[in-house]
Amino acid sequence: MLSFTGSPLDRADNIRGDKDALAGLMNWKARLLALDGLTPSLTDEGRLAWTTLADADPDAELVFLGLDEGKACFAAVPPRGDSAPRLANPALWDLMATLPTAELALYGGARSIVDWHARHRFCAQCGGTTRIAKGGWQRTCENCGADHFPRTDPVTIMLVEHDGRMLLGRGKGWGEGRFSALAGFVEPGESLEEGVAREVLEESGIVIRPKNVRYVASQPWPFPSQLMIGCHAFAETDDITRDETELDEIRWFSRDEVAASLSGSGPFIAPPKQAIASYLLNWWIER
Ligand SMILES: [Zn+2]
Repeated sequence: MLSFTGSPLDRADNIRGDKDALAGLMNWKARLLALDGLTPSLTDEGRLAWTTLADADPDAELVFLGLDEGKACFAAVPPRGDSAPRLANPALWDLMATLPTAELALYGGARSIVDWHARHRFCAQCGGTTRIAKGGWQRTCENCGADHFPRTDPVTIMLVEHDGRMLLGRGKGWGEGRFSALAGFVEPGESLEEGVAREVLEESGIVIRPKNVRYVASQPWPFPSQLMIGCHAFAETDDITRDETELDEIRWFSRDEVAASLSGSGPFIAPPKQAIASYLLNWWIER
């Protein structure tokens, strides 16, 4: 299963907008996810730690995450959101590596939503103060009344294949030997397939026809809140023109080279197991 998927929570959307039902859940039985800012606290067994609502800062906004076997689960919005890319935070990755899959998914979702709240305290329309609404799945402006909803940004990540070889790139500033699938944000006015074709053309000069793009799998990525959409496409051309602003290296790898690298003995350092790029490359090798 892909990392950050498989959360055990029932999102219980029917409760979010029902003030009385929500208030009825906010009692001593409710669970509060133990977070230090955005970092999870773990038990001695390496599981997510939970406390009760009594431990929440009285001024903190609370997000209703959902129900876990009938128990209401909440998370408090931290004073500050994620101002730095936490991907570079090895301590957090060590913590996350110990979590069972379902708990990692629960943490990832909670992290995305509380981080969004922390970074959206003011209205994008009028600059007024916003307050939490719908159990934390909306913010509403106190000045102009505009509603704001949690963001999920679509990012395509694509396996580009030509004549049995795979196109992989090394991003700016990545360590020597680290290669992964090309990726990029879908822009307003684009279909998923058009986004894939544009990104690949921009980064590599390789031509793909949108009609040849196929969806493979997706993964929520909580840094801060992307939906990674994994695709596969056969390329029309194989002559590479590298985008020097985005990539330090880009080249074609044979199936044997990709397989060897995934098992740790190939010509490049494969993406980490938690990333959908690893899943996609394994999917390609096993296909
Ligand atoms: Zn407003």
